[in-house]
Amino acid sequence: MAPRSARNAVAWALLVLAAGAPPAGAAGIILEGIAIQGSLMIGRVEVGAKLWLDDVPVPVAKNGEFLLGFGRNAGRQARIKVAFAGGRTASRLLRIEQREFKIERIDGLEPKKVTPSPEDLKRIRAEKALINEARARFTEKSYFRSGFIWPAEGRVSGVYGSQRVLNGKARAPHLGVDIAAPKGSLVVAAADGVVSLAYNGMFFSGNVMVIDHGLGLGSIYAHLERLLVKEGQRVEQGQPIATVGATGRVTGPHLHWGIHLFRVGLDPALLVPPMPAAGK
Ligand SMILES: [Zn+2]
Repeated sequence: MAPRSARNAVAWALLVLAAGAPPAGAAGIILEGIAIQGSLMIGRVEVGAKLWLDDVPVPVAKNGEFLLGFGRNAGRQARIKVAFAGGRTASRLLRIEQREFKIERIDGLEPKKVTPSPEDLKRIRAEKALINEARARFTEKSYFRSGFIWPAEGRVSGVYGSQRVLNGKARAPHLGVDIAAPKGSLVVAAADGVVSLAYNGMFFSGNVMVIDHGLGLGSIYAHLERLLVKEGQRVEQGQPIATVGATGRVTGPHLHWGIHLFRVGLDPALLVPPMPAAGK
């Protein structure tokens, strides 16, 4: 696992990037967080400015707030470009710390859950589309300002980014954190937000929930037993939203917790302090 606690110590340090060499009195970009594979940065820029990350437009809220996310395979550097309302432009190179991810082998899964049938593949695609739809949502709210907490306590049985080998077959990397906990334990909202998906019985994810935290940031909770809140419902950090289950593709009861900025999966463990000792 990445030296998470050390990283968290600096994770929310304020980092001010002067955008190029701005004229006296002009504000640049303010970024909170660190740039590392899997990380989230919260930024603010002058009202009315437009922003690009590696030439991809980044939505900026009316108050100048924006989010940047670096995926598991983010390269060593990314360029932020800003076009200020007055016509001035600036650009800045961000160095992105590279991580090493481990290989995680899981055996004993139902073979049809590792190599699904053509019919199951159809269903999987439809379910994935529902999740992607929830992920694509952009709400101009800053619910994420509540900060994040662990949604459940227990042993961390799977970390972000691992290359997965399921029943001996290479599969997609794990873009979340697994928390082993007894069936029926409460799952709470990791941050303030609005439930954007509450769905029972997905092939891989089982009973699943997605919460929208604003500006394209969301969290997903999978393999749940019971869902306690409904789509469209406003939830607060710490509020019970579900119970831990063993639905979908699992070997035992646990919570899969993911964080995404639009469709880019980020590392939830970078947003919270280390798991409390009692849960280890
Ligand atoms: Zn998982």
